[in-house]
Amino acid sequence: MPRTIHADREARTLAIEWQDGHQTIYDFVALRWLCPCAYCRGEAGLPGWLDSRPTLTADQTRMVDIQLVGNYAVAPTWGDGHHTGYYTFAVLRDRCPCAECAARRAAQPTADTRSGHLAHAPREENR
Ligand SMILES: [Zn+2]
Ligand SMILES: [Zn+2]
Repeated sequence: MPRTIHADREARTLAIEWQDGHQTIYDFVALRWLCPCAYCRGEAGLPGWLDSRPTLTADQTRMVDIQLVGNYAVAPTWGDGHHTGYYTFAVLRDRCPCAECAARRAAQPTADTRSGHLAHAPREENR
């Protein structure tokens, strides 16, 4: 859980301070690219809008509002009216762009590769 969440429209950053004292700062553009909604990310195996690598306009990366969703997520409203992305705190912490967290992600294999299931699938199957 975050202790504080602060959206700075001048600096165009979202700063989150977590219960353990860690600080996460997203710039709005990076945050917009993370939008987890079905429209941006796609669903049922179909690519989403962000998968088409669109050129984001100034409106699309301008946060005009941010709402708490229950006690597990925040939902920003963007300048183009897009507001369907619920960013869970777990994801926001997991994707923290700071050097410390980037190093942690690089050092630790993800859950998928650790299970070894896909990683050890026979290569021949792909031929
Ligand atoms: Zn979205
Ligand atoms: Zn971090």
